[in-house]
Amino acid sequence: METIRVTAGKVTIGGDAPVIIQTMCNTHTSDVEASVSQCERLYEAGAELIRLTVPSMAQVDSLKEIKERLRAEGIDTPLVADVHFSSEIAIAAAEVVEKVRINPGNFHKDHEKAREQFARLVELCKANGTAIRIGLNHGSLGDRITNMYGNTPLAMKEAVMEWLNMCVENDFYNVVVSLKASNTFVMVEAYRLLANEMQKKGVVFPLHLGVTEAGNGDGGRIKSAVGISALLSEGIGNTIRVSLTEDPANELPVARYLSDRYGRRLHSSMVSLKLNGKKAVAEYAAPSRERLLLDFSCDFGKRLLDKELDEVELTGTYIENGEEISLEGSEYAAYLVDELMQAARRRFYRPEYIACPGCGRTMYNLESTFEEVKRRTAHLKGMVIAVMGCIVNGPGEMADADWGYVGEGNGKVSIYKGKEPLERHVPENEAIDKLLKYIEQEAD
Ligand code: SF4
Repeated sequence: METIRVTAGKVTIGGDAPVIIQTMCNTHTSDVEASVSQCERLYEAGAELIRLTVPSMAQVDSLKEIKERLRAEGIDTPLVADVHFSSEIAIAAAEVVEKVRINPGNFHKDHEKAREQFARLVELCKANGTAIRIGLNHGSLGDRITNMYGNTPLAMKEAVMEWLNMCVENDFYNVVVSLKASNTFVMVEAYRLLANEMQKKGVVFPLHLGVTEAGNGDGGRIKSAVGISALLSEGIGNTIRVSLTEDPANELPVARYLSDRYGRRLHSSMVSLKLNGKKAVAEYAAPSRERLLLDFSCDFGKRLLDKELDEVELTGTYIENGEEISLEGSEYAAYLVDELMQAARRRFYRPEYIACPGCGRTMYNLESTFEEVKRRTAHLKGMVIAVMGCIVNGPGEMADADWGYVGEGNGKVSIYKGKEPLERHVPENEAIDKLLKYIEQEAD
């Protein structure tokens, strides 16, 4: 899809540029030392854009220091400030970094006031050559929009179009847009609707793709690959982030794979495909376990999401430690099929987990807690369980979770049922037990 060219420092997004890969630091931005060192690692791992959270004005100064330190080392990767809630912070950050991500759901509830705030931000961005990402998430749609369109992909598209119209009114086009959701079906539909609408209007902004709160491990990778590849295969998407609740450096090989594959620099290891009605039998000769997982997700995710196929069987081989492993009737093949069916929302064989990747707002060990929650709740098939890094954005972002474990900081946790807090300030060492107790009570 042809789009406007957006520039963030040395990076071009959209136009004829390849798909740019990005990630986000999970350090506290105020910890300049740790943030610089993580940015160095992410740069080495191939990040083409690096985002850092900026929760307060004080951290705009830290951001400035981080940028100066990186530039002094010759690392010129553009930095993105991730700003929620405060247009003033966004304005201050726009003078420091190459791109600012705003969440429109966090701007003033009064539409006129939000317009004024945005116009000021745009002026600053114009003066400094800063790009903006309008990053709308499924979980943070405002009441006004959901009352009109429900909590739907259409509502996401309509909400973001209001902001894109404001960009046009302000004659500002250095803008990238995202419409993330953790539900792959919602995410893909929302981006398709937006791409279509922008094309109809004749002003096509580049798109930043991502499946938000995708979780970790194989499940997180498969879910991200399904959502992102479905769109990239249709020519939709100009920059991507694979969000994993892991070391952010782990996101980059998956993102690189997706960018290379849809930039036609890499081909699937599938060697044969038999179709029998809506069932596919796919044979692979994959060079590694990771390639098998990604190739399989990209080859079949979209077809399952779009219900072109109902079933898929995985056969063939992959290489591990120099040995060729057969997939014929193997548990691993059955597991990958189960994971793919779940990621494409066709069949649920385990609970659905929503876990944010964590960022500078996270005040506890999100990765190990998430693993523990997964271990203790593995029997709750079909339930949607969220594990979120912070109380500021977590509850809003966990979209349609049935239950939520939300870190408050200071060793405390809030337990949520849907969007409602059931109990606040639960000590961390009791929180998983409490969560399970509430779930059991509900089941009784
Ligand atoms: S929900 Fe997670 S990723 Fe989002 S701001 Fe909070 S800690 Fe950061």
